[in-house]
Amino acid sequence: MKILLLGSGGREHAFAKALAKSPKIDQLYIAPGNAGTAACGIQISLKATDFDAIYSFCVAENIDLIVPGPEDPLVAGIVDYFSEKAAHGGRQILVAGPSKYAAQLEGSKDFSKAFMLRHGVPTAAAFTVTKDTLEEGYAFLDSLQAPYVLKADGLAAGKGVIITPSLEEAKRTLEDMVVNETFGKASEKVLIEEFLHGIEISVFAVSDGKDWKFLASAKDYKRIGEGDTGLNTGGMGAISPVPFADEVFMSKVADRIATPTFEGLKQEGHPFKGFLFIGLMNCNGEPKVIEYNVRMGDPETESIFTRLQTDMVDLVSSIASGGIGALPVTLDPRTAATVFLVSGGYPGDIEKGKLMQIPAAVGDCVYYHAGTAQSEQGVITSGGRVLAVTAMGHSIAEARDLAMKNAQTIQFEGCYFRRDIGNDLMEYEQQHD
Ligand code: AMP
Repeated sequence: MKILLLGSGGREHAFAKALAKSPKIDQLYIAPGNAGTAACGIQISLKATDFDAIYSFCVAENIDLIVPGPEDPLVAGIVDYFSEKAAHGGRQILVAGPSKYAAQLEGSKDFSKAFMLRHGVPTAAAFTVTKDTLEEGYAFLDSLQAPYVLKADGLAAGKGVIITPSLEEAKRTLEDMVVNETFGKASEKVLIEEFLHGIEISVFAVSDGKDWKFLASAKDYKRIGEGDTGLNTGGMGAISPVPFADEVFMSKVADRIATPTFEGLKQEGHPFKGFLFIGLMNCNGEPKVIEYNVRMGDPETESIFTRLQTDMVDLVSSIASGGIGALPVTLDPRTAATVFLVSGGYPGDIEKGKLMQIPAAVGDCVYYHAGTAQSEQGVITSGGRVLAVTAMGHSIAEARDLAMKNAQTIQFEGCYFRRDIGNDLMEYEQQHD
């Protein structure tokens, strides 16, 4: 199989490593990739949303299958583009991802909320506001208890969610979002949501449009500071699996959330093919959906794929052309802990181009490159989130400690990482022993 992987983050390095080690791969291309993915295949410069250029490249190189890492090409309709090409006499190139319609589960929070209500999927109460319905929005805010959650409808690079304890500030921010379009077109519509109390968890599933299966559970750590403080980031670390995602909890997620979601899309004529990320709040043992993503998450992917034993070529080709029902999805039962090394100043202004020292990992530990590039002097930083260190262990503490031990050996100016990844889950385990 010849596969083209789209993206350049830690998630894509995890995909690239898993694809490259499959005996079924003939050639892997990564567009654009990073300093780590360079060892897994041929890097090429293609924009993930330039479908004409991607199509021409795939025809020229006889690509069989495209694996989109990030959401942008999916929300922009890469799957529909390639199936239309094939329907009009073009080459048949498979894409392991959902259609544009199904990708709205991530691309529009308003669509996804309405979808959940249509199919009885448990989620936070919400009200959608435009500039013509601001007054109703204020009244809905008045009816809620603090803190207040505001969400830009469209894609806002993970920054479109505002949570504030102040009703006044919530009203001001709401007005700013819809009237001044603080997030551009993404905040023409804004969802006001009931705040859900509990512990967050991400659950990942795969589907080929007919059958679906769980991949794994994971927890990510979004805030920059230890103890979940400070600004939101793309993700500072992850743990997989999550201790409270036991059989009872996962069967609730299956029956009340995953099955109605996949069946709902089938009923609407748009069966879901791809990776589905379900962001949940565990509200006293009852799962409620916070959001869907229509692709793998980053850094959860780094933790989950380190545990995954199923052949990645089998997995992505089954997603695209059927066979998920018969494919055994197996995972290492141990825990994976991912600690993300980030640039100084992140998530604000960062300095790039810092030379990195990356000694070989010790123990059962892997490095996934994210914001790195190759220079004549060696590997340099090229983004905010730089390198994901993922280690395996028989407990969260063992995995996290090994990840930290390795993280401490990696050097670049301004390097920062959180040392408390998994602490909350360890506390949970102690309380429920
Ligand atoms: P989202 O982009 O929808 O995942 O929101 C980003 C983050 O905001 C989530 O990971 C949660 O930590 C938080 N969040 C979003 N919606 C809610 C909610 N209704 N209640 C509590 N926290 C929320």
